[in-house]
Amino acid sequence: MKIAVIGAGLCGVASAYFLAAMSSCQVDLFDEKGLGAGASGVATGLMHPYVGEQVRRSYLATEGLYHTKALLSIAQKYGEAHVADFAPLMRKVHEEEQRKAFLHHAEKYRDVECVDPNTFFLTSGMTVYTRTYLDGLLKAALEKGVLFHIQKIQSLADLSSYDQIVVTAGFGIKGLVNAELGNLRFVKGQTLTCQWPGHLPPLTHTLLNKGHLAKGETQDIAYLGSTYERGVAHIGPDVEAAMKDLYPKLSALYPGVDPLPVIECRSGVRVTCKGHYLPRVGRVSQNVWVMTAMGSRGLLYHALFAKALVESLLAGKENALLQEVRHILPKNKLLSV
Ligand SMILES: Cc1cc2nc3c(=O)[nH]c(=O)nc-3n(C[C@H](O)[C@H](O)[C@H](O)COP(=O)(O)OP(=O)(O)OC[C@H]3O[C@@H](n4cnc5c(N)ncnc54)[C@H](O)[C@@H]3O)c2cc1C
Repeated sequence: MKIAVIGAGLCGVASAYFLAAMSSCQVDLFDEKGLGAGASGVATGLMHPYVGEQVRRSYLATEGLYHTKALLSIAQKYGEAHVADFAPLMRKVHEEEQRKAFLHHAEKYRDVECVDPNTFFLTSGMTVYTRTYLDGLLKAALEKGVLFHIQKIQSLADLSSYDQIVVTAGFGIKGLVNAELGNLRFVKGQTLTCQWPGHLPPLTHTLLNKGHLAKGETQDIAYLGSTYERGVAHIGPDVEAAMKDLYPKLSALYPGVDPLPVIECRSGVRVTCKGHYLPRVGRVSQNVWVMTAMGSRGLLYHALFAKALVESLLAGKENALLQEVRHILPKNKLLSV
């Protein structure tokens, strides 16, 4: 069987890896611009279960963490640098409801530690160096026989010689699988790669509050994120707008710090489903599968759902996890955004 995967972000590379590792199919991975050219290359690498202002534990967080960690260790074998920093994330809280929720998680899941009434360690969380991780995972996929092509797929008709097609094109789903678009939302996001001043102590933990300040691969780099910009026509980087949004958040994260010098501004588009935060993963026609709408949980969910998609594709029908997510869970109030 010949399988094409469109898009070399977190979802596409993980899917291509699993397809090659779990079958003897020919797997071709296509990206119009190269590895991590979409949202995955912009992500600042936060991976933890308590995404969002309400700090609820994400559905299937334990499973998601488990599968991502498994892929991280595979990628690390091929990567020349560290693919992640395993120090707990430090979450500042500013509302009583958040404090109560974290104390509850600490008791129930034991992956939250109270440092002081306004600060919690998320001990199952980590900072993933997404581009280094993708690089290692792609190398692992290539070794399993995946072929990587820098090529834009204009329409699914370009791939008529393939038996099955997996669309993991992020924002690029527009124009490829139009039937999906009514249920999807697109939100621009920007991050700033900043110089961490030599006179300050190195960051020991990635800090989260309304924004976040993520540890860089080296001590002199930090990532400041991230914006949520709706209805913006221009999706490229806009450093002025990013600084205007993010510098006030920096002061709350690290009181007293001067605005950090910007090395680079990166932008991408988050895809989410309307009304809930679960991804859209499954079959859309006889030989076309989609995996999208990872929202802000790309790192938490990509490995778990890529594996579920690949198992389903190879079996010729959606497995129990995909059916559950598609039909039952979005109706659950707890899964509202
Ligand atoms: C500013 C920002 C910060 C974020 N921070 C985090 C974070 O800290 N933690 C986290 O878990 N998530 C984070 N996210 C979300 C995360 O980045 C996404 O959920 C995830 O990267 C989505 O991966 P994907 O593979 O679905 O899509 P993408 O990474 O967007 O990949 C799609 C790929 O498809 C390619 N493509 C598109 N169309 C075509 C075509 N026609 N032909 C060929 N190739 C095509 C693109 O070039 C691209 O490389 C962040 C997102 C943004 C925007």
